[in-house]
Amino acid sequence: MKLRYLSGVVTLKYDVNKCKGCASCIEVCPHGVFSMEAGKARMVDKDSCIECGACMKNCPFDAISVDAGVGCAAAILASKGTGKAVCCGSEGGCC
Ligand code: SF4
Ligand code: SF4
Repeated sequence: MKLRYLSGVVTLKYDVNKCKGCASCIEVCPHGVFSMEAGKARMVDKDSCIECGACMKNCPFDAISVDAGVGCAAAILASKGTGKAVCCGSEGGCC
């Protein structure tokens, strides 16, 4: 089963005009947010994004931006580093 998060809150932005179709974002995204269509990336499941930032870091053409370092992915990474409970601290958060 694919986990889903809140709808319409993800900060992920994608500029198709900058995309050169290298497919790096598809390779690194753990949640299948992008797919390839006619030689360009296409955002197919934005609400699955966990804002990890991997696609933005690996896009050589700055076609993707996302506020990484917030939300679920950041909370999980921080908890691994500190040993503290997983929580992003957002108002009305889910944990
Ligand atoms: S930020 Fe992470 S989860 Fe979201 S689209 Fe990029 S690689 Fe996928
Ligand atoms: S990494 Fe960037 S240039 Fe490559 S397919 Fe994805 S959006 Fe396009």
